[in-house]
Amino acid sequence: MAVPKRKTSPSRRNMRRSHHALKAVAYSECSNCGEQKRPHHVCSHCGHYDGREVVSASA
Ligand SMILES: [Zn+2]
Repeated sequence: MAVPKRKTSPSRRNMRRSHHALKAVAYSECSNCGEQKRPHHVCSHCGHYDGREVVSASA
């Protein structure tokens, strides 16, 4: 089995982890009900996407 020759230094380890931070989720306004929704997702409030109802409105 391939095994690393050297222990990863704290600097290397932290450089690897520099990409691990979470970003805030993007939000846009639903064109049907004006509620906040995620872009490219069906609106969870009214079930609309691209100007038509795709999923029946829940709750
Ligand atoms: Zn909506």
